[in-house]
Amino acid sequence: MPDAAGLIRAKRDGGELTAADISWVISAYTGGQVAEEQMSALLMAIYFRGLSPAELRAWTAAMIASGERLDLSAVGRPTVDKHSTGGVGDKVSLILAPLVACFGAAVPQLSGRGLGHTGGTLDKLEAIPGWRALLPPAEMISVLRREGCVICAAGPGLAPADRRLYALRDVTGTVESIPLIASSIMSKKIAEGTAALVLDVKVGSGAFMREAAAARELARTMVELGTESGVATTALLTAMDTPLGRAAGNAVEVEEAVATLSGEGPPDLTAVTVALGAEMLRLAGLPGDEAALTAALSDGTALARYRAMIAAQGGDPDAPLKQAAHTRTVAADRDGWLQRLDAYAVGVAAWRLGAGRARKEDPVSPSAGVICRVKPGEPVQAGQAVLELRADDEDRFGPALAALDGMITIGPEPPPGAPLILERITAAAAL
Ligand code: URA
Repeated sequence: MPDAAGLIRAKRDGGELTAADISWVISAYTGGQVAEEQMSALLMAIYFRGLSPAELRAWTAAMIASGERLDLSAVGRPTVDKHSTGGVGDKVSLILAPLVACFGAAVPQLSGRGLGHTGGTLDKLEAIPGWRALLPPAEMISVLRREGCVICAAGPGLAPADRRLYALRDVTGTVESIPLIASSIMSKKIAEGTAALVLDVKVGSGAFMREAAAARELARTMVELGTESGVATTALLTAMDTPLGRAAGNAVEVEEAVATLSGEGPPDLTAVTVALGAEMLRLAGLPGDEAALTAALSDGTALARYRAMIAAQGGDPDAPLKQAAHTRTVAADRDGWLQRLDAYAVGVAAWRLGAGRARKEDPVSPSAGVICRVKPGEPVQAGQAVLELRADDEDRFGPALAALDGMITIGPEPPPGAPLILERITAAAAL
């Protein structure tokens, strides 16, 4: 029988844990026989020493084995999901799930809530009156069968070890570890039961991974884990130096998602959504390319599917969304071209306005957020509003404005164009 202190020492000193050690420590931690301080020490040792490929496989498998694995075979269509590592203004899931469902796929989008400066898909959709994030597994599968898509919270039975480990990592400075992030994300996605998965790994100031090299390593690690577990997995690295689209918040992002589902979305958001959609269809073996996906956005097909999905989860797609009581603008201080609008700063501003939460149990404001009236690459005149801030409470504006200080750059000429889709990582490249 392994003992926790022995495993901590072994990892601390650069040794390799066996699959049996890892299976024991995860299950003993979940069962309360390994103390929080022991797991904290082990996580810190992993943070510094990393996990070998065999250890990573065993760690992920143990987290999956801590709970149930959903069986989506009753859905009767190819299942394919998308996971984003998180960014600012990232409302892609709201558009992508119904869009890809229009092409014959079933998209079981189990999503999370926002923490810190990145928003959460569930918080955004909860801005819609009546919409329910918590569905029992049988109801989730029934919505998926009927509508071809569902966006809901992962139930408590799915990789419960990850829930506890993630909360512990959050308070012990051990979140930013590639093997721990990869195993956390992939254990939930593999347990969810999807046959295929496209990862949107964000790179830039508003992302977990600010540098392409780290994002590439994370993407390769996750693609490898998925592929080895029998889930067809690929990843796109996508830019997150400036918010995606123009809106960051909850209701404001729902409104922008609906505009995009009507073929009237901002070009960057539409392009990333369509690129991910084409990748999902390719992995699921379904016909449909970027042109067909773009057409489904303009001809109302995707919007109709979105409305049906929202209604199936109790939401009223026609209900007016709550509007903020107060607005404030940030104006350009000179004529020129917007060179930079920092994603992290906009994310922090939206969060401080009330769109995000500081602690897991905090409520979020449906109506708070930021609208980017001007995006990098667009011309601007002195005095013109670059940002519109929205809040329920005027006291929120000061801290939000402080986050934006120095984070907007206007220059005499347009900035050089920057690609949105930086790289595609497939199993062949990962293994
Ligand atoms: N998202 C997760 O689910 N887990 C991590 O570790 C980081 C982001």
